[in-house]
Amino acid sequence: MRIDILTLFPEMCEAYTNESILGRAQRAGRVQIVCTDIRNYTKDKHRRVDDTPYGGGMGMIMQVEPVYDCYMDICAQTGAKPHLIYLTPQGKTLTQQRVKELAQLDNIALLCGHYEGIDERVIEELQPEEISVGDYVLTGGELPALIVADAVSRMLPGVLSDDECFTEESHYNSLLEYPQYTRPFEWRGRQVPEVLLTGHHANVEKWRREQSLERTLSRRPDMLFNAELSKSDLDYLKQLKNNQANSTEVFDSKEKQ
Ligand code: SAM
Repeated sequence: MRIDILTLFPEMCEAYTNESILGRAQRAGRVQIVCTDIRNYTKDKHRRVDDTPYGGGMGMIMQVEPVYDCYMDICAQTGAKPHLIYLTPQGKTLTQQRVKELAQLDNIALLCGHYEGIDERVIEELQPEEISVGDYVLTGGELPALIVADAVSRMLPGVLSDDECFTEESHYNSLLEYPQYTRPFEWRGRQVPEVLLTGHHANVEKWRREQSLERTLSRRPDMLFNAELSKSDLDYLKQLKNNQANSTEVFDSKEKQ
């Protein structure tokens, strides 16, 4: 898969994409991440890519031509029309489900805005998918683009040591992951749960599943609507709910005493 990042700050993006798991994945040819400087496409002799907003107001707006020419050049380079994504706080919030779908594509291009954003006409012309990384505003689209590139890359075959690394993780199956532990066995009086030391695979799996259900129920009950749950999962969740109800009753009766 090739991921293009269209940005005014390519070095900022490369500093991240060339390190750690993404760096290794690129060197192994599992993914190619190309960061292109939108400024290379300006025709302005001072290399300006932004201007003041029509109608007045604060900040600067990125101009249409450099953005458009940059994307067209990437299309020419790749011989494809990469699925274009504009990172914007006005987009649909990114989910693991969308990440999985994007990882099926051969080419995606991530367009990073900066300053007050991008002249609307290039958005109308190129019709990108609009993705937000959350209901808050950042100074630029670079961090959001890196979030997409990172989340998508780790879904690609061979990027992580084993597919189990992500299929068991939070959100993949609409459940949060169980708690994890490593050495030392005891730290500040806290011990690793005994079951994890038994070597009994089935019991470890059962404990992890239950922890995962318990966490999701208490932290993100909304996710359970989309989770695939077996009969024993549902029984366990019911039992948790009953225990909760009982403990509330105990608490209420204690208060009355
Ligand atoms: N004026 C814009 C608005 O109110 O919608 C916000 C512009 S923001 C300061 C500059 C750029 O940062 C945006 O064009 C976008 O690329 C990026 N950005 C900021 N917050 C984002 C978010 N939550 N998700 C995705 N991109 C974001």
